Amino acid sequence: MQSQSRAILITLPGREQRYRVLIGPGLRFDLGSHLKALDLPPRLFVVSDRRVAGLYGGQVTGVLEKAGFSPTLLEVSPGERAKTWPVVQRLARDLLAQGADRRTCLIALGGGVVGDLSGFLASIFMRGAPFIQVPTTLLAMVDASLGGKTAINLPEGKNLLGTFHQPRLVLTDPEFLDTLPPKERRNGLAEILKHGFIRDPDLLTRLERLRPRLFQDREALADIIHRAAAIKAEVVAADEREADLRRILNFGHTLGHALEAASRYRLAHGQAVAFGMLAALQLSVSLAGLSPGAAAYGQRLIKDFDLARKLPNLAMGDVLAALTLDKKREGQNSVFVLLEELGKPVIYPDVPLSLAAEFLQAGWA
Ligand code: ADP
Ligand code: ZN
Repeated sequence: MQSQSRAILITLPGREQRYRVLIGPGLRFDLGSHLKALDLPPRLFVVSDRRVAGLYGGQVTGVLEKAGFSPTLLEVSPGERAKTWPVVQRLARDLLAQGADRRTCLIALGGGVVGDLSGFLASIFMRGAPFIQVPTTLLAMVDASLGGKTAINLPEGKNLLGTFHQPRLVLTDPEFLDTLPPKERRNGLAEILKHGFIRDPDLLTRLERLRPRLFQDREALADIIHRAAAIKAEVVAADEREADLRRILNFGHTLGHALEAASRYRLAHGQAVAFGMLAALQLSVSLAGLSPGAAAYGQRLIKDFDLARKLPNLAMGDVLAALTLDKKREGQNSVFVLLEELGKPVIYPDVPLSLAAEFLQAGWA
């Protein structure tokens, strides 16, 4: 039986290739039939981290075997430290040792880390192998699995080696989130709220209403993921002439990235972005004409979802230093995405850093 699912078609500017994002509770059990429709060779490799592999590796390879595929599970360590060149090389050699060729499909089963790493490997393995995303974190479902960006880290910084490599399919099953720890859920929620702030106030209203039971009501959760993913898909499909449209995804991220860097990446991405959004809402009132009532509503939503938790001891000086190192800096002012109204972003080129710092500090006091 096929599960009920929602679909998004992703088309990319200037490219022939398009692919589908399918979203539905229980969809992982249909992975085999969806792969068959893509006409892929029977030999498959599923890349996952140890934790996700322990939870779902056997289930997913079982589903694939039942559909006539012959899958092999390849595991990496959980967390950011797997996104390195030595891991890519080790995986590539495992693929060769087990008979992979350039038509062999890689399936990324995991969060953003596994998706970035496997996508990167797929993009360079024998000059490019097909690749499928099966995201298991909320962040990956609404953000990282969409848009075709792949990357690994270098000792000098995150995501410094990367490619664009579009998956052939993104298959999203919200039931994976049953086992996702609250901290990881919050990372995804911050991006979903962001999508509401920049594009869809109605999404904010729905989130507010669903908050107490969001992770219990699977169909409602699937609808929210669908809407948030559709917003990301729409924005990444914008072409170069619409560069400003893509920049709106940076809402809350100018300060968010500075906070993450100043904490030496101990602060979770979602939490950093949540504080960035609190300050950006306040800046929007001062500079972009957002009504104080709308800002207060947004700030309350961020707090009700428990996203703006206590910050670790960060020195404001470190945050400002990180902010001026940010590539979007312009003198002592900085480029911010602000809101004129909820759902109506504006790129604001010269926000005084002193004002940004003041509002940031007010948010974490
Ligand atoms: P992100 O998608 O935020 O980049 P990661 O890929 O780093 O996240 O995954 C975050 C952590 O969550 C990792 O330790 C990973 O093993 C774990 N994880 C991912 N998906 C699930 C899941 N569905 N259930 C439980 N843990 C998961
Ligand atoms: Zn983000």
